[in-house]
Amino acid sequence: MKNQNSVPVGRFAPSPTGRMHLGNIFTAMLSWLSVRSRGGRWILRIEDLDPQRSGRDHMLWIEDDLAWLDLCYDEGGLEQKGDNGPYIQSLRGDIYRECLDRLAATGWTYPCRCTRASLQAVNAPHQSDGRIIYPGVCRPQSLPATVAGPADGCAVRLYVPDREIRFTDGVFGAQTTNLAHDCGDFVVRRADGAWAYQLAVVADDALMGVTEVMRGCDLMLSAGQQIYLQELLGFPTPEYVHLPLVCNSAGVRLSKRDKGMDMASLRQTHSRGQLLGRLGWMAGLISEPDSCSLYDLLAVYDRSRIPQSEKILTK
Ligand code: GLU
Repeated sequence: MKNQNSVPVGRFAPSPTGRMHLGNIFTAMLSWLSVRSRGGRWILRIEDLDPQRSGRDHMLWIEDDLAWLDLCYDEGGLEQKGDNGPYIQSLRGDIYRECLDRLAATGWTYPCRCTRASLQAVNAPHQSDGRIIYPGVCRPQSLPATVAGPADGCAVRLYVPDREIRFTDGVFGAQTTNLAHDCGDFVVRRADGAWAYQLAVVADDALMGVTEVMRGCDLMLSAGQQIYLQELLGFPTPEYVHLPLVCNSAGVRLSKRDKGMDMASLRQTHSRGQLLGRLGWMAGLISEPDSCSLYDLLAVYDRSRIPQSEKILTK
């Protein structure tokens, strides 16, 4: 762990699957303000674990858009600035393998041959958002198991205990999750050999010395999974701060289909000051969407003003 000075360390961890939209830069800006307002450091980590959907062009645009907004980072990015790299997940396979080996050594992982289709066929229960709660089809009779290396062609799943995990979210307050009820045993390495998001993000946040994880509240349940992984791997738990999701006028989370909301359009229709003013206003930091600078927002940044609501409509 490389955070000897105890300064706050935040990170922005976009997946390079398209041009950033208003929701992505809302998260980036608030994460930047949060650590900068306390003299902290900010990391840009590229989460390109999905090779089919990730592209170098998108990475270049992420950097260009952050630079246009003046959201400068201390570590990471394509030039791999800093001592805790690589900062691109596709280059960190050795690190994830070592973490997986450590998890396997606890005896709580097991090979799993289930597919989405096979789980649907056994009517596996679902969360309200459609995510499957793993019903334990491949779980061995007794765990912890004698350690065996991951079997080829199988996913690796991690057993989760039937107990409450509690944490205090920086915006939404006290949270309780029971992973056995909320998601079931979860995948840490996929059958095609790809690393699962949960394992990668936990390894990265810990080894990059991240102290504050700020991101959309669609990942609130992931915080519980990540805290459990940190317990097993002996990593510290950062502070989790989940943000409202920026939604279109129909109340649906912004996506690439929302015309006019990606950075290509926003840079045509706004000056930097106007866009920062709009974001600052949406975040509750200023009372009108007046043009302003990042430094104006730094002066008024106060996490308690961020709306405690799962959605905010684009304004
Ligand atoms: N890469 C994820 C995304 O773009 C963010 C993950 C995180 O912040 O933990 O949605």
